[in-house]
Formats: sequence, C-alpha cells, structure tokens
Amino acid sequence: MYKILFPCIFVFSTFVGWTQTPADDAATVKSIYSYALTHSQGYQWLEELTNIGGRLSGSEEADEAVQRFKAIADSMGFTTQLQEVTVPHWVRGSKEVAFATAAGENHYFQVCALGGSVGTPFNGITAPVVEINSFDQLQDMDSKALKGKIAFYNIPMDPSFINTFFAYSQSVKQRYVGALEASKKGAIAVVIRSLSATVNPYPHTGSMTYVGAPKHIPAAAISTQDAEWLTKALQTHPELKITLKMDCELRDSVTSHNLIADLKGSEKPDEIILIGGHIDSWDLGTGAHDDGAGCMHALEAAWLLKELNLLPKRTLRVVFFMNEEFGLNGAKTYAKFSKQNKLHHVLALESDAGGFSPRGISIDAPDTIVNRIKLLRELLEPYGIHQFSQQGSGADIGPLKNNQLVLIGMRPDNQRYFEIHHSALDVLGSVNPRELEMGSATLASLVYLLDKLNVVIGE
Ligand SMILES: [Zn+2]
Repeated sequence: MYKILFPCIFVFSTFVGWTQTPADDAATVKSIYSYALTHSQGYQWLEELTNIGGRLSGSEEADEAVQRFKAIADSMGFTTQLQEVTVPHWVRGSKEVAFATAAGENHYFQVCALGGSVGTPFNGITAPVVEINSFDQLQDMDSKALKGKIAFYNIPMDPSFINTFFAYSQSVKQRYVGALEASKKGAIAVVIRSLSATVNPYPHTGSMTYVGAPKHIPAAAISTQDAEWLTKALQTHPELKITLKMDCELRDSVTSHNLIADLKGSEKPDEIILIGGHIDSWDLGTGAHDDGAGCMHALEAAWLLKELNLLPKRTLRVVFFMNEEFGLNGAKTYAKFSKQNKLHHVLALESDAGGFSPRGISIDAPDTIVNRIKLLRELLEPYGIHQFSQQGSGADIGPLKNNQLVLIGMRPDNQRYFEIHHSALDVLGSVNPRELEMGSATLASLVYLLDKLNVVIGE
C-alpha cells in the first residue's frame, strides 16, 4: 500500500502547481504581455503623472499626484486609502549659480543644489578649491586642511562595473556625506561631481545629510563634464576660485500621504501581495523613470490582472510610497502600520530602477523560495527576463522584511539609468513606451504566477 501510494503522492505533488499546465501558463503570460503592449495604459498614466511636474516630498505636485491617482484607482474599483506620512519639506529656490574664476575669466558650471542643502549667503560664497578624489585622502588631511575652502569631490562612478547600480553605490558617499565630512576639516561649501555614469552636461541632484556635522555648509553638484573641466583647470590654475550662490532651504516638515489601493483576494483576502514604487521624485525633471515608471508598473500590473480576469487569490495591494528620496518616510510609516496591525504580507514586489526593458528580478528570500522562483525562468525568458539574483530587493519594501515575506525587486536594463537619474533628463521623453509596458507585464506575470503556484513562505 505505502509502496504504491508514496510514488503517487510524489508524482502528484510535483505536478500540482507549477508543471501541471505549463502550456496554459505560457499562454496566460503571453496574453498579459500582449494586452500591455496593445493598450499602453501605463504609458498614458505616466504622461498624466509627469504632466504634474517634479514631485519633491512636501510639494503641491507630490500631493496632486497622490490625489490624481487615488481618483484613478477609485474609478477602477480599487479600495483606496491615504496614509498620513510626515515628510521633510525642502525647496530649491531660484536657479543656482556657480562659476570658477581663473586668470580673470569666469567658467560657468551646470550646477544644482543637493537635496537638503542649506543655501549660501545672498552674495554667494567665493573661495579657493581643494580637490578630493577619495575619502581616504580626506581622512589623511590635516584637521584644518579645508579651512575657508570649497571642497571639490571628484570621485567618478567606476565605468568597469556592468551593473551601474554597483558603481553608483560605490561613489554616492561623496553626495550623501561629502558636506558633513568636509565641514569637519573646515570647508565652507562643497561641490561634487554628479553621480552619472557618463560625461554629460547635466547636473544630478540627490539626498545628503548633515547628521553629525559641526556646521551646515552648502552642497551642490556640477555636471560630470564640468567636473572634468575643473580637475584639468586646477592643474594649471591651482589658485582658481569658485563662486557658489543658492537660496535653497529646508522648511518645517509637512503632512503628506502614501496611496494604498487594494483589490481584495477571492480566497485568501488576509494575505497581502504588495506591489509598489515611490511617487515622490526630484525636481529637475519630472521623475519619469525615478520612480514614475515604478508606480505605473505597479498600478498597471494590477490593472492588467483585473482586465484579464487573472486577479490573485490573495489581496493585491498597490502602494505609492511617499518620500523615498529624502528619508524613506513613507516606507517606514507603512512598515510601522503593518507591524502594529499585524498585516500579513506574503509577497512584496518593488520597481524602482527605471522604466527600461526588464531583464530580471532580485529576490530576498530563503533559498528554497529562490529556487522555486527560478523555475519560472523558462516562462519568462521569451520576454527577456533571465536574471534571477539575490542582491536585495527595494528601498521602500525593505522595512517590511520579516521571515514570512518574500521580497522582490524588478531589475530593468541599467546602462542608461544613471545618465538620467535625478537630472533634467528624467522626463517622459526618456521613457520608451514599449519598454515601460514590458515592465508592467513582467510584474503582472510574476504576481499571477507566484500567487497561483503559492510561491510564498510556509507553502
Ligand atoms: Zn527611486
């Protein structure tokens, strides 16, 4: 009896779930991609979102975006709620000015203040420059080495990394703590080389901190092209001076919102599959890739599943997180709320790496789950999804991490991302409609398959 039963159970359990109907699953996945590419709903929404403008946390535009997309989700039959989030309110003020003066001539820079920076006095700051090429070099400097000087951080992103996110994470320290560290050595302002993987004329903003700084000094980014110019100019004119003028300021924190939109699960409504991105953006562009694309991926994925009658057994929750860029306040608030209310998230998928062609996903889960997800490769490879890594997931879903949750980050092609990221290039025109739709369809397919096959911890 047992001898006969055991192999039967084994065969049965192997087939239930994933290999039972691979042809059907392939056809379903195909229908999702076809529908996305035919209707281009996500791109239309992205146009509507970017028409609002850049969405700095605490700005009117950020609030307008949340309200607009709440109305859209309501009209589609989602159950929506706005979750209060306290966010910092930094304003850029008038267009920044920076130039170098050498041998009686001025060279004007493409410049922007870093997010969170204080402004300069009304007439600006003019001072000699010290170039810094590494934090080791800075550490070795005398404690007064930068007294009365402007520190110029020139630490390029390493072009030999294939994954530009790794190059970014290696160089981003100059932006985040550059001012803080330079102020400890007496600097009166900092100018950093923009975090961009190519030499181009666009300055790139991004967050910075003063936590632990003896003094809050102004911090700005110049374009990589200007950084190249400056490093050369300093060789022939070490006495060169930079003038920097900005009137940005950090105001009192304000109340903003996360947008939460649910489609209730038919069989397991208490189990939540969360998909999301962040609705705030920097202000030099309109946050089309970062992270309008991610929000549209999430909303469109839910829309696709609804349109095609493929909604999961579990509750599908779309979250537009507020203020990823300058402190993760929305993500932290949501995670706290989730913990207090004992919400049971089983899957969380985030898209915050641009709207380029999807290439794969990064999974943060136990190996058994990762191996089960890797079995989906055959179904997704026809759509270019072939990279299944275990290198984190996403900033906004990260705070939700617990031992019952599978976290997944979308990984689109990243070669062009940092040319655009946080700059004036991050506008609708830099998003390709087909590439964006491929991302939405990928997210929808993943949600459909992972829910159907019960690829969650404990099952
Ligand atoms: Zn982002």
